[in-house]
Formats: sequence, structure tokens, C-alpha cells
Amino acid sequence: MFAAPLCLQRGAEPASQAAEAARLQVLQPEVPVDTHVHHTSQRLGLIGPKVNADKAHVIFARVLPPEWVYPLHANLITHGRQVCHAQRPACAKCALYQQCVYVGSMNV
Ligand code: SF4
Repeated sequence: MFAAPLCLQRGAEPASQAAEAARLQVLQPEVPVDTHVHHTSQRLGLIGPKVNADKAHVIFARVLPPEWVYPLHANLITHGRQVCHAQRPACAKCALYQQCVYVGSMNV
């Protein structure tokens, strides 16, 4: 269920980042940052607006307790598929509307 860090898959990162990613992988499971996880995380303000998927992966690995990894990943994917669509998020139906950073910044 848990994927290897993206920086290890590509093998093009500096040694220090690859070593850090490997250390984090040994310590705990990690959140694979697919398109749903990435855009919902940004909209909700869990990561900054300029944080790419590779950096998001490292951030989540650093801050999440192991028991949060699977629930966060599964819930972000479900939320992205069912409500927070990439092109046209259904903000009027969203339970997280009041907490969403995207709504205020984009005037949705
Ligand atoms: S309010 Fe809209 S943009 Fe924010 S999480 Fe919900 S659906 Fe996504």
C-alpha cells in the first residue's frame, strides 16, 4: 500500500535528500502524493500553494504520526474524487467549506 518516496524512484536527487527520504521510509509508512492528495492538500492549506508533490511527500512524512498516514491518504483521495474535483470543486456541498483556504483566496 505504501509507495517508495518519489525522490528514490527517480534517483536524480542529491544524496542528502535521498538519504533523508530513505531514513524517513524506514521510520514510518508514507503518504503517496497523487493528484487528488496534492490538490486537496493545497486547497485545504495542509501544504503551501507552491509545494509540489515531491516536497509534499517529504512534508507529510516528517509531520504525520504513522497511524494518520492511511486515513489521511484515503480520505484525501475520496474527498478529491467525490467533492473537491480538480477542475470544478463542489464547494457548496463541501463539509470543509468553512476551513478551506482555497475558498477564501479564490472567491469560489
Ligand atoms: S471548499 Fe471547495 S476547494 Fe475547499 S476542500 Fe471543499 S470542495 Fe475543495
